[in-house]
Amino acid sequence: MVDPNVMEKIVALCKRRGFIFQASEIYGGLNGFWDYGPLGAQLKKNIRDHWWRAMTQLRDDIVGLDGAIIMNPAVLKASGHVDTFNDPLVDCKTCQGRFRADQVDKIPCPQKPSKCVADCHGEKTAPRNFNLMLKTYLGPVQDESAVAYLRPETAQAIFVQFKNVLDTSRQKLPFGIAQAGKSFRNEINPRNFTFRSREFDQMEVEFFVHPDDGFKWTEQWLADRLAWYEAVGLPREKIHVLDVPEADRAFYSKKTYDLEYEFPFGVQELEGIAYRTNYDLGKHQEASGKPLEYFDEATKAKFIPHVVEPSAGLDRTLLALLCEAYAEERVADGDLRTVLRFKPCVAPVKAGVFPLLKNKPELVAKAREVEALLRPRMAVQYDDGGAIGRRYRRQDEIGTPFCVTIDFETLEGIREGATAGEKNTVTLRHRDSMEQERVSISALPAKLLAAIG
Ligand code: ATP
Repeated sequence: MVDPNVMEKIVALCKRRGFIFQASEIYGGLNGFWDYGPLGAQLKKNIRDHWWRAMTQLRDDIVGLDGAIIMNPAVLKASGHVDTFNDPLVDCKTCQGRFRADQVDKIPCPQKPSKCVADCHGEKTAPRNFNLMLKTYLGPVQDESAVAYLRPETAQAIFVQFKNVLDTSRQKLPFGIAQAGKSFRNEINPRNFTFRSREFDQMEVEFFVHPDDGFKWTEQWLADRLAWYEAVGLPREKIHVLDVPEADRAFYSKKTYDLEYEFPFGVQELEGIAYRTNYDLGKHQEASGKPLEYFDEATKAKFIPHVVEPSAGLDRTLLALLCEAYAEERVADGDLRTVLRFKPCVAPVKAGVFPLLKNKPELVAKAREVEALLRPRMAVQYDDGGAIGRRYRRQDEIGTPFCVTIDFETLEGIREGATAGEKNTVTLRHRDSMEQERVSISALPAKLLAAIG
């Protein structure tokens, strides 16, 4: 059974241990914005890097892009965002609140939080369209001609650079362009911690294919993305695949899968995989007047490629991993331990390094030596504060998979006449099983690196 307070506990842990803070907190915060603290920033980077590596390094049919956040507004006009990137909005005449009309059954009523907006008696206006793009002005004159937008998705830069990438990367169909970066949406009701924010990171691939192959590649991407989520730590059975019915798909999409995760606050979207046909490139060709066709050498045919788009949220993936990793358990001494069971590949700290006692110079010197050995190879934390058990708990709570303790047995191995087997060993403690083993210092880096992957 899901602990009803688990989200509160996760939010508290994120603040207490420096994963996620409310943005601008000392000024009362800003709704829909979050700052990632030291551990959160590293966790986020690890997830992004894992994705980037899986997409661009481990395959030869996808290349990367890092496009500007602010584009010529003509791009977002052509893509349809300026005119139609809307959510339906209703006002409540009783509490003056504004709510996303298609989610009133999920949004708590500000006056009676035990009820949702749909069940409160306040009189509501008819829904009207609300454009989600965040506007700004470029240059010194703030008139209509200076209006620009913060991008609402990373995808558009990929479409408008399609030709440049094609001409410079020697790719042939099918191939993809990957981009990870910030997107902005003026969400009407940001909520569920970082799940729905106004500034967030996306990880998107636009995969260009021959028009006959769109459905086939959509299925392939579904399989690839499910495997990726498993690789970073979300079990397959906690991910729901929704085959989005035609009525709920964008009009140009011939097939869309939503990948949803069982968050403590409900089953909610992590990623959309959409077969978008040639809609985007077609629109940009039409509006820019520049050819965005592909010439197939083999058949001598010229056509606008079709696109399959796996579009994932980095903040949502991180939140899902936090929810999945969070556990509380009774340990042998009756204590309750809180542990984040991150996979080693995403864990922000890979190894804690401890001298058993901080007032024993030989232990401290050896521990600093081990720290110096590991630090260039992985993220480590040196900790000499308090009882060893407490130090283990501190690392458990931030998800560190390994702890290395330099103890009296380590020193025994330094004395003259120590046998080869006794020499230079440390205690290696495993987070999940809490098992301990002795490992020689020289074997330690390779052993840990193999486990981190
Ligand atoms: P939703 O229906 O939840 O508003 P969407 O279907 O509009 O999302 P897409 O436009 O398909 O979302 O964006 C792709 C991905 O970007 C989403 O699956 C999600 O992971 C992420 N994303 C979208 N909006 C937000 C947001 N406001 N905060 C955090 N992540 C978001």
